[in-house]
Amino acid sequence: MIKVMKFGGSSMGNIDALKRTSSIIANDPAKKVIVVSAMSGVTNYLIKCISERPDPSSMIDHLKHKYHTAVQDLLSGDHFKVCMQEIDTSLSALSEQLKIRWEADSDPVLEDRIFCWGERLSAILLSNILAGRGISSVAMSSEEAGIIAEGTPTNGSADLELTHANLSRTVIPLLDKGITPVITGYYGVNNNGNPVTFGRGGSDYSGSVIANCIDADCYEVWTDVDGFMTSDPRIVPEARTVDEMDYGEAAELAYFGAKVLHPRTVEPVRQKSIPLIVKNTFNPDGHGTLVRNQKCNSTEIVRSVASKGDLSIIKIYSSEIVYNPGLISRLIASVSEAAVNTYAISTSLSTLAVVLPTPAIPCVLSKLNALHENQIEKMTVKNNVSLICCVGDNMINTFGVAAKVFSTVSATGANVEMISEGASDVALNFMVPSEMAEDVIRSIHRKFIGG
Ligand code: ADP
Ligand code: ASP
Ligand code: MG
Repeated sequence: MIKVMKFGGSSMGNIDALKRTSSIIANDPAKKVIVVSAMSGVTNYLIKCISERPDPSSMIDHLKHKYHTAVQDLLSGDHFKVCMQEIDTSLSALSEQLKIRWEADSDPVLEDRIFCWGERLSAILLSNILAGRGISSVAMSSEEAGIIAEGTPTNGSADLELTHANLSRTVIPLLDKGITPVITGYYGVNNNGNPVTFGRGGSDYSGSVIANCIDADCYEVWTDVDGFMTSDPRIVPEARTVDEMDYGEAAELAYFGAKVLHPRTVEPVRQKSIPLIVKNTFNPDGHGTLVRNQKCNSTEIVRSVASKGDLSIIKIYSSEIVYNPGLISRLIASVSEAAVNTYAISTSLSTLAVVLPTPAIPCVLSKLNALHENQIEKMTVKNNVSLICCVGDNMINTFGVAAKVFSTVSATGANVEMISEGASDVALNFMVPSEMAEDVIRSIHRKFIGG
């Protein structure tokens, strides 16, 4: 049995969490690869520093204090000395990179290089804590393991074929020798040797990539809640854990806003039918959520509801839309050149509406204007909209579901701005004004899930 266990920021966040995390690993007899996120708050701190440009030495002192405190509380003897030395060497390297970045103009490549230091420090810390508990363990950066990334900074994705070939050389022999590698999540390295991050929360995806590439028997995501829940418990306090989910359900929810999994986590494990289990580091005996290739035979209509904010709807008006298919394809191609992700598309007789992340809108508009299509009559942008995603196996094939969902939404007073139904077998998505999104989520939860 080989498993990949990924520990998120909160599972690495303080002394108590680190003790719990190392006990969970120590108590598991399987051959394991551990994937770690930065300690909670560290990636946010690194990102904030890029815009605030503090003096590198004050930044390094802040981080030094955080990591030295953890090392002092958790390690002694040789492990203490080795870990302190590795942390300090890493922080000196980070300091050099900060100086280079401060001297350069804004450069996303240099910034991605800085963002992944939280994961590097976590891997060093946890592997030494494990070694201190007598577990033979080694810290590995994504570069050392050979996790190959492609794509643009902060939006990378892994090359599974190349990564598989590398991990067969770097990771599998360690497992065969009984050594537990602790690998950095969140980023891979591209063919120029530069780190490329996978987007916020990307360590979930890293773990899934590693599980795929070493043909693991299971992938465990350890976090701070009891599993995949019927909604975000911060919005719906009565949300409860879903025992089992199909890959399709989990993938839709993750893509459309359920922060418990990075949007792309499901693809790599689904490709090899590797079960994914979401568990709570602070309640390890809990059942968690099992995500696998199996419909759940439940009678519920809506099994979970998520929302995604910071979106805009761009509408392009042209009386030629339906009569000129070439026009639609040029418009979509132009939008996709600029936008990171498209969340929904809808057409009418004379309008094409596309839901996009709000930060991408200026770039999309400039690409569309550069087309100089004289058939475009006007374009409008509606900001501050959120997408609501209702998921369940029986969503689409049960008579009257849409009517019930929309009458629940209408009772909250929220206007439905756009609907996307029928494209997915398991999800019904629609847009509402962002200020109404939490009310809508709570009402749908109350009506269809209960609590
Ligand atoms: P980690 O640091 O372990 O990666 P995250 O903060 O990224 O953890 O994700 C866990 C958080 O996701 C939970 O604390 C919870 O607030 C939020 N969340 C959002 N939607 C859901 C959901 N459907 N089920 C469980 N948690 C959710
Ligand atoms: N540390 C990164 C972030 O905060 C990646 C992760 O936590 O998964 O986004
Ligand atoms: Mg996360």
